[in-house]
Amino acid sequence: MKNKISLTEGIRFHGHLGPWLVLGLLMGEYGLKKISADKYFGLEAEISGLHKKPRSCLIDGLQLSTGCTLGKGNIKILKSKDIFVNFISSKTNKKIRVRLRDEILKTLESTDGHSACEKLAKKIYRQQPDKFFMVGKV
Ligand SMILES: [Zn+2]
Repeated sequence: MKNKISLTEGIRFHGHLGPWLVLGLLMGEYGLKKISADKYFGLEAEISGLHKKPRSCLIDGLQLSTGCTLGKGNIKILKSKDIFVNFISSKTNKKIRVRLRDEILKTLESTDGHSACEKLAKKIYRQQPDKFFMVGKV
């Protein structure tokens, strides 16, 4: 994939390596591509169901990969049980909803401990995003 954010950049920003961070890195690139929006100012992200740690680590990955940031105000965090991220193109107003596949959610739930989490994070990074995400209607 082009312009893929490195794990080093992710760690420099977030402070540690974890699977949720890496999912955020990949998900941002995935979503941008799916709605053909530009990074930083071309979209808005609405994040649901990820406001608690460690899930919220995804939000940092997503800020890096989409350029949607709390400071710019184009990222919103919704407190809900339903896990998804809406990507909204500023140019076309098109909105898509990206969800995590059940398989990866199960893997995340059953992974415990620092080194197992780092190992999983690296494994996720090497794989195709279609394996973890799917696009649904809003
Ligand atoms: Zn984290």
